[in-house]
Parts: sequence; C-alpha cells; structure tokens
Amino acid sequence: MKLTAILLTAALWGAVRPVMAQTDSLDHGGPEGLDIYEELLMEDGGSVDPVVPRIAISPLVWDVNDSLSYIPGYDMYCHWNTDVIFDRGNTARFVHDTLRLVLSQQDCDHAIPCDGKLNSPFGPRRGRMHYGIDLELETGDPVKSAFAGMVRISKYNKSFGHVVVVRHQNGLETLYAHLSKRMVEPGQMVEAGDVLGLGGNTGRSYGSHLHFEVRFLDQPIDPSLVFDIEKGQLKAHTFDIHKGTFATIAAAKATAGTRRYHVVRSGDTLSAIARRNGTSVSSLCRLNGISASSTLRLGQRVRVN
Ligand SMILES: [Zn+2]
Repeated sequence: MKLTAILLTAALWGAVRPVMAQTDSLDHGGPEGLDIYEELLMEDGGSVDPVVPRIAISPLVWDVNDSLSYIPGYDMYCHWNTDVIFDRGNTARFVHDTLRLVLSQQDCDHAIPCDGKLNSPFGPRRGRMHYGIDLELETGDPVKSAFAGMVRISKYNKSFGHVVVVRHQNGLETLYAHLSKRMVEPGQMVEAGDVLGLGGNTGRSYGSHLHFEVRFLDQPIDPSLVFDIEKGQLKAHTFDIHKGTFATIAAAKATAGTRRYHVVRSGDTLSAIARRNGTSVSSLCRLNGISASSTLRLGQRVRVN
C-alpha cells in the first residue's frame, strides 16, 4: 500500500469511530468463580463522531497521528482502534497459507500474566464459547503483559470489567480482563512482564480471577496452545496459524450455541448421562438446578451442555 493510501486509511479511521453496542443477557450459568461474559462486543453502530484531535499523554504514548511505524502490526490490521475491543466482522482476512509467528527469541521476552493455576479452559462452556482461559489470582495481584507491545485498549467494559488489550509486534493481541485497577493507557509501549494492572473481579465475573485471551486479527486462539500454564513457560518459540486454527474454533462455537438435552430412560443415572455426553455430574447439576442425589424421572429432559 502506498504511503498516501495508508495515511488516508488512518485519517478515515480516525474520523469514523465505531460505537460499541452492548446487550445484556441473563441467560448464563451459575457462579463458579469465573467470568460470565459474552461475545457481545462488536456490533458497530456506524455513527460518526466529530474528528477530535488526539494528544499524546506522554512522550512514550503514540497513536496513528504520530507515525504508523510505531503501531505494532499496523500493516496487518490497517487500523488502530482504542475503543472497540475486537472487531467481530474481521473474519475473512486469514484464508491462505500457514503463517509462522515468532513468539520468543530470548528468555526475557515473554511472561505468564499471573501465577495462578488454570481454572477454566478455552472452549464451549455453558452453551457458549469461552474465548480465553481463567487463571486464579487474588484481587490486587499484579497482572503482567505476556509480550512486549503497545496498549490498544484500557477501559471499563460491562462484560470484561476493567480490561487491557496489548498489540504485539507479531500481530498477536492479548487481553486481560476483570482487573481491579488499570495502570496503562492506550498507546503506551510495554515490555514483557510489565504490570498492566491489578487482578480483580470486575465486570461479569464471579470471584477474583484473570480472564486471559490471545487473538490474531481479532480471531481467538486458545492461550493454552501458546503458553504451558502449569510449567509457566511458552509451549514453543513459534506459533503456526492457518485457516484450520480458526475453523476448529468456529466448529466448537457452533456446537456451543446448540443446547442439547437427554431424555431420561429407565436405568439412567446422572453419572452415565454425564459420561455419555462428555461432561461431569457437577456440570449437569449446575445446568439443571439439581443435586447429585436428585431422583431422575422417566421422560425428564436433562440439559447436557
Ligand atoms: Zn474467562
């Protein structure tokens, strides 16, 4: 792209600032010490705000009005939006070959965001997708940037609570949600391990924890494919992305969106139903508002996902 075109794109992006539409839903599972956020983020309202000059907060804070070359991954995204957390419409950019992202070249260029153990994985959960992993922490514990990069989002969001998103040089973005305090501003450069804020329980969250996401071109990636949380290290120094990476997630999302039920037959037990449906008795109890010792009725519909 010619420089003039890049600058024009940047100017247009500055002029048209999508407004985030939020919806609320009471349709979620019970408390589990976890977040209950939904992917409700990116329905662009399309309204046009007046162009407001943007002023750097400090010499270390940059935006597109300073120079595009400061924005990590600008050539891939062609925008830098400090309002919208993720662009759900950004689905078709990555359709071709495998792209190998370099994650690390030395020991000090990456960090696990917090020390807590993983208590909820990426994937379908309570009938919808969980696009990150949940890590245990106490409110007030430091939350660190996984890699060096530039803070793109630092704001309060109804679902994520106090949330920070960092764009990294390789195009990956990482998200840190439910913070009690944010300590960085959009445009701020950070190093791996820099404290972005303090862990907490804000937004749609039950119990203090860190909801941590990894995304590429707005598409979610299982952070457990990038980090070995138990060992506290990267899985590998590179990460390969190909269209299959996101097709798997799309398939899981389709499954997650479909509620499945089991109709109780003679001889059924909760544990047998759980086993046949790849879930647990405690999940069935939570989904159906019953206890493990509840008596099942013949013909009863038991929700299984
Ligand atoms: Zn989560």
